[in-house]
Amino acid sequence: MIHPKHVLQTLQIRARKKWGQNFLVHENNVKSIFEFAHPSPKTNILEIGPGLGAMTQVLCAHAKKYIGVEYDPILFGYLQETYKNSNTLFIHQDILETKLEDIFPGEKFEVVANLPYHITTPILDHLLTQRSRIQNMTLLLQKEVVDRIIAKAGSKTYGRMSVWIQSLCNVEKGPVLKPGCFYPQPDIDSQVIRLTPLDVQIDEKFLAFIRILFQKRRKTLGRILKDQDLSTTNVQADYLQLRPEDLSIDQLKEIFKKTL
Ligand code: SAM
Repeated sequence: MIHPKHVLQTLQIRARKKWGQNFLVHENNVKSIFEFAHPSPKTNILEIGPGLGAMTQVLCAHAKKYIGVEYDPILFGYLQETYKNSNTLFIHQDILETKLEDIFPGEKFEVVANLPYHITTPILDHLLTQRSRIQNMTLLLQKEVVDRIIAKAGSKTYGRMSVWIQSLCNVEKGPVLKPGCFYPQPDIDSQVIRLTPLDVQIDEKFLAFIRILFQKRRKTLGRILKDQDLSTTNVQADYLQLRPEDLSIDQLKEIFKKTL
């Protein structure tokens, strides 16, 4: 694998911070992310932000059809020139503007991405609101975000992100990557996570309810419900003394139903 620094030099560009560009440097990291993703044989794969293509060749070789959505015009041109397989398509677009139902019309697909960290939450939101045809998503994120996603009630990192993602997906943690695995080096550790959407219907109002609760995470549930003019009559009395961060997802779902 050619070091990204040299490819960027050849292209006469620098890594763009505004597009969250931190490129994978080592082949062994590509291998471990791919092994953790273990996409199904002959599956469709969407890669968000293929960049200089660190993961692209291995994904194209495995996929029935591979689509890479890259926002940087120069990297998009480079990818098109470099990876000319018959099953491979690059789209020059902002992933947040990309309608996922147009990507693999009528077919399911798996997502693999080393995400631009500054837009992690909007991308997760974008993927999860259109999750019906996504089989699973293997994502490289800031480790701090992964800690929040996997946290359980009562822990410091438990919050809206934990409840939101765990309500919608089965979550598996993968390898941790140190800053030295990237060029340029980020300031933080990164971690791979695999999200498999659950076959559940989640009321969007539940997610809005959770957002409100965790905005006031230091207040008791009783106080928050009162402030929001929500009924506490049917809510179990001992829950009202607790803070949102102490309530499990099942308890929060139960409370939500009682406030309707
Ligand atoms: N996949 C490459 C790797 O692992 O070496 C690059 C990962 S880099 C962290 C993030 C990539 O996402 C960059 O190539 C960047 O240009 C691209 N990107 C940033 N914002 C994007 C957006 N809104 N839509 C699509 N791609 C984007």
